[in-house]
Amino acid sequence: MTKKVRVRFAPSPTGPLHIGGVRTALYNYLFAKKHKGTFILRIEDTDQNRYVEGAEQYIIDALNWCNIPFDEGPTSEHSHQHTDSSFGPYRQSERKHLYKKYADILLEKGKAYYAFDSNESLDAHRKNHEEQGKTFIYNWHNRLKLDNSLSMMPEEVANRIASGEDYVIRFLTPPDEKLHLVDIIRGNMTIDTNVLDDKVLFKSDGMPTYHLASIVDDHLMEISHVIRGEEWLPSLALHQQLYDAFGWETPEFAHLPLIMKPVGKGKLSKRDGEKLGFPVFPLSWNESVGYKEEGYYPEAVVNFLALLGWNPGTEQELFSLEELIAEFSLERVQKSGARFDPDKTKWYNQHYLQEKKNALIIPDFQKVLSKNGVTTQNEAHLEDIIALIKERATFVSDFWELSDYFFVAPKTYEEKALKKQWKENTSNIMNELLSVLETIDNFSSKNTEEKVKQWISEKTYSFGNVMPPLRLVIVGDMKGPHIFDIISALGKKETLERIEKAIQVLG
Ligand code: GLU
Repeated sequence: MTKKVRVRFAPSPTGPLHIGGVRTALYNYLFAKKHKGTFILRIEDTDQNRYVEGAEQYIIDALNWCNIPFDEGPTSEHSHQHTDSSFGPYRQSERKHLYKKYADILLEKGKAYYAFDSNESLDAHRKNHEEQGKTFIYNWHNRLKLDNSLSMMPEEVANRIASGEDYVIRFLTPPDEKLHLVDIIRGNMTIDTNVLDDKVLFKSDGMPTYHLASIVDDHLMEISHVIRGEEWLPSLALHQQLYDAFGWETPEFAHLPLIMKPVGKGKLSKRDGEKLGFPVFPLSWNESVGYKEEGYYPEAVVNFLALLGWNPGTEQELFSLEELIAEFSLERVQKSGARFDPDKTKWYNQHYLQEKKNALIIPDFQKVLSKNGVTTQNEAHLEDIIALIKERATFVSDFWELSDYFFVAPKTYEEKALKKQWKENTSNIMNELLSVLETIDNFSSKNTEEKVKQWISEKTYSFGNVMPPLRLVIVGDMKGPHIFDIISALGKKETLERIEKAIQVLG
């Protein structure tokens, strides 16, 4: 790559970031880091009607949680991120003063024109066309019959503007041209300009539309590659024409595939998440629970999102962020939609949970415990328990179910197991076991196992008569890891008490 890589993620702050948006940000980030470039966050807030309070901060928090922070972007009171470099500001609302000049350049060059058509008159045209089975397009076809500066005298245009009439500035799409478009993922495309409409670029309220603002900003911010969702592919023809009209160098484009529903057709929506019970947002937003709050690790989210539309060309599925940066390429992004698989996201989380150092899991485990009324400061003890139960867990929130008996003695014993395991002579055996355990000072798993097994073989008991009832009285159920690991973690006193109590209750 010869030119300096500068890419931008350009969300509109109209609500929380959908995971599709996070993936767009991630691919931009990976591409930037791979090429030692710059990852920019630009807030596209020109449409004040759709502005949602808190959405911008949410976007920043989500990127930071995923560990994909921007290098340049809006300054925020809540973030340590800078940065108003010479390319800023990074909120389009703060760049408002810039855009009019560029709309005027297009007017001067004859590449754009004023239009005064009211919404009502445009609606009437649309309806009229529909009735005739046609589609109304504002372009070469009919622009001279409409209310604009191409169809009226310059004095009238000047008068209307001077009198404060609402207007828009439209792009003048040249007829009969074949536009050649290039997309890194989709290859070459050709479009006949006759099918394009004259898009609105600027409005008399002083605000540019997305199209003008994003092209001007991409140019001024020296964006080298525009990496964005497939839904913007239909805008590419206009954007290319705008670059040509200004005489600017065009960045390279890459339009990412849609993320599809887990089942059926169509793109993944918030409803799918609600129906099937998985998050669609990185962080919680109002009543929608996010990946973070659901207990996912950011490494898992980043890993599954990276593979949702990109593949490394090998069977490898597990990637750290560093590996992704090293491997990522836009050429390996697929054209077709990528099906979202909620089970796979869990699989990733399970993997990253297993990878995580047990000591680092303690704080989250403590939260789970305190939700269940258990407070313990003994971190070494918690670390031991984590080591015993973790392999069965996908989330730290699974830990309570897997470990409750370490903290609370069983109040009841699982009925079926009890029937099967508690036989006539079990109390006697448990009594004998009590005396054996009482003599053991070193209550390590290995030592208790050795001593108990020795006693079993001396007495010629069968394992089946001792071990399952022991598990039942300690755990309350037949679940759990190696029983000697459990009693060792519980300690001698608690182990003896549980056995004694069971003998009392069950007789
Ligand atoms: N503001 C647009 C959005 O909300 C950005 C499109 C682009 O990246 O050009 O997705």
